Amino acid sequence: MDKAEVIAILGKWEGYELESGRRTADETEVELRLKVTNDGKHMCSGCGGTVTAVHETTWREVRDLPILGARTVIRVPRRRVLCAQCGPKLERLSWLEPYARVTNRLAESVARLCSVLPVKHVAEHFGLGWQTVKEIDKAWLKGTLGPIDFSGVTMLVMDEFAIQKGHRYATVVADARTKRVLWVGRGRSRKEIRAFFELLGEQRGRQIVAVAIDMNTAYELEIRDHCPNARIVYDLFHVVAKYGREVIDRVRVDEANRLRHDKPARKVVKSSRWILLRNRENIRNEEDLVKLDELLQANEALTTVYILKDDLKRLWSYRQEEWARKFWQQWYNRAIASKIAPLVEFATKLKVYLHGILAHCRWNLHTSVIEGINNKIKVIKRMAYGFRDDEYFFLKIRAAFPGIP
Ligand SMILES: [Zn+2]
Repeated sequence: MDKAEVIAILGKWEGYELESGRRTADETEVELRLKVTNDGKHMCSGCGGTVTAVHETTWREVRDLPILGARTVIRVPRRRVLCAQCGPKLERLSWLEPYARVTNRLAESVARLCSVLPVKHVAEHFGLGWQTVKEIDKAWLKGTLGPIDFSGVTMLVMDEFAIQKGHRYATVVADARTKRVLWVGRGRSRKEIRAFFELLGEQRGRQIVAVAIDMNTAYELEIRDHCPNARIVYDLFHVVAKYGREVIDRVRVDEANRLRHDKPARKVVKSSRWILLRNRENIRNEEDLVKLDELLQANEALTTVYILKDDLKRLWSYRQEEWARKFWQQWYNRAIASKIAPLVEFATKLKVYLHGILAHCRWNLHTSVIEGINNKIKVIKRMAYGFRDDEYFFLKIRAAFPGIP
């Protein structure tokens, strides 16, 4: 390779060439001065038309990829053309966006690193500001993700996640088939999620056949309004978690109170939360299994709610709606006959939502697609969320879940 070739590889500043370069004494920074080579026709950044008249030329300083580890600043004579259509406009360059402070190839490197590293680290690596790196990544994501592609989307999964623990919420919508995140928006109210359905549009809304959600959310009414042909499917995980909180936990506390004169027995019941909420097949420790059995033998109410929890889960294994309905009726009768107040209350409430449990027979959907998303969101939040820019955060989530074709 001769010198010119090396410079050409380093450069690639289309329409310009290297005029001179210098390096700071401590060798940490390189400054390159470019000169114009294209003097004939210029492209207008407004309309893309060809313009020959140059309105003015100003010097701009932009950052480029580091050269052999040194920060690289290039000084570029930037032309403003006089377009017949648009008036004075910056010349369009293939390697530098109008008003950009970094070249396109540096922007691309920044964005690629931002997909795996925290913004802070990327900023340190390139010697750029946090805010600059974030804006570069955001613009890159916007450009590459583009508008939401709804093609082939017929089944949805919707769930909420906390932006700040217990305070602000956001809603994430994914394609149930490909697990691609379609939309993320602030809030979880009907009004707040309406923006998604407006993007989906009326015609595509009619093509949605099923949507998996947690019961007890505002989502359902909004889905009915915009997706008239969709069946609502309740997620097993959420229902069972609710059962744990509203039935098992309360019965356990009631039992512990009942045993207040029997200190050792009370202690066993009080400390049994973990063991009761866990699936039996996930308890590996022999001692814990013995403890569970002893606990259940000694406490009838706990045994009842424990067994009914396992049976409740079986509802989601049915593929025939009629069989599921029969099984539900038996479950419901047993719950009511138990006369255990929290259980009776839960069964009565759940009855209203039966349609969404039975829908699972036909549409085997789970919001657990989004449970996985939730964990990844936590990581993204740590990596990118320093400045509370929702739009950026949501773009990062979309980019992290491109889906499987
Ligand atoms: Zn123009």
